[in-house]
Amino acid sequence: MPSEHALLSASSSHKWLHCPPSARLEAEKPDQTSEYAREGSLAHSICELKLQKTFIEKGMTTRQFNTRMNKLKKDPLYKPEMENNTEEYLDHIKQIAYSFQTPPMVVAEKRVDYSKWAPEGFGTSDCILIGGAELHVVDYKNGKGVMVSAYDNPQMKLYALGAYDAYGFLFPIHKVVLHIVQPNLNNISSFELSLEELLAWGEKIKPIAQLAYEGKGDFCQGEWCDKCFCKLNATCRKRMEDNMEVMKDATEEDTGKPKLPAEISTEEIGAILKRAMFLENWVKKLKKFALDTLVAGKEIPGWKIIEGRSNRVIKDKDAAVKAILDAEYEEAVIYKPREMVALGELEKLLGKKDFEKYVGPYVEKPQGAPTLVPEDDRRPAMKIRPSAEEAFGGKNKYNNTEVQ
Ligand code: SF4
Repeated sequence: MPSEHALLSASSSHKWLHCPPSARLEAEKPDQTSEYAREGSLAHSICELKLQKTFIEKGMTTRQFNTRMNKLKKDPLYKPEMENNTEEYLDHIKQIAYSFQTPPMVVAEKRVDYSKWAPEGFGTSDCILIGGAELHVVDYKNGKGVMVSAYDNPQMKLYALGAYDAYGFLFPIHKVVLHIVQPNLNNISSFELSLEELLAWGEKIKPIAQLAYEGKGDFCQGEWCDKCFCKLNATCRKRMEDNMEVMKDATEEDTGKPKLPAEISTEEIGAILKRAMFLENWVKKLKKFALDTLVAGKEIPGWKIIEGRSNRVIKDKDAAVKAILDAEYEEAVIYKPREMVALGELEKLLGKKDFEKYVGPYVEKPQGAPTLVPEDDRRPAMKIRPSAEEAFGGKNKYNNTEVQ
């Protein structure tokens, strides 16, 4: 896969479209890579190989395929679950491809150029499929942390613009469908828009992209700071200003004294939480930044690192077991009783199809605990219905709550 990145990369577009100056500032910072990112690259390579075999290099023999696959499997980051995950991606693309009467055009890991809409913009789309008047753009996500939706997704729309620029003169494209396949979170999402809507969006972002390219525009804090891993997410001054602003509400503006009455109202709680939404994440980032700085041997005035708690480990388990048994203890003292592996683990081991077939009938999903989110969150509000016991003053069943 090509490793070079555009200043206005599609994958960081959620960030620079909201906060244009972030693009140039981030470009000045060294690239950060992680084991998760390298794992993702490996999974993408497997996806690419499977697409090549199925749609592109039809002459690839099973032996050639296995040789290439075995090479990828030798990577120390390879995990058996990648087999089922990449199969799920392939299945989704097959499903789209086989819905056409004549075989569609399928390309994998295609470099697309969307510089007509964002200066010097290019990126690599995992899969582009064109059949009839439809352009499908499919992206594989290996992440287990943040669920990514195809809904109005700017990264996917930039890939779609690039794909249209490359193939629009060959195919009568009218409909565009964006797909995200994220098997580690059981997430497959699709979003459909017309070509006109896509092109209108492209026109709309042109001036913002120009600002981002020039390093101009206004800073803007939002979910993109953390979700899109902005390299400034700890040290950004705009974040500090926004987050410290929240504190100003705590005192009377003219006297600086605490407000009255002693207890804050639900209206105040609602307003504070809205404004403080990013504060918690920002403080976590600050702590991480300070810790990394101190570990690197530099200083953060007023702070130091100490040795944290550590758990004891048995360094020679065989010798310990022998010593216990020699002392005539029962084996039951040493070993845990047989226990079924956790549901998610079982699904990875069996693969989604077999899991659904053999375990699916015995699985149920209980109602989730009430979770606090802002009212503009796209998920529907939970209806709280008191049980008969609660209606008569019993214990509230929703005592296990979560905050997002
Ligand atoms: S942390 Fe957020 S506000 Fe600051 S530069 Fe990055 S994206 Fe912009």
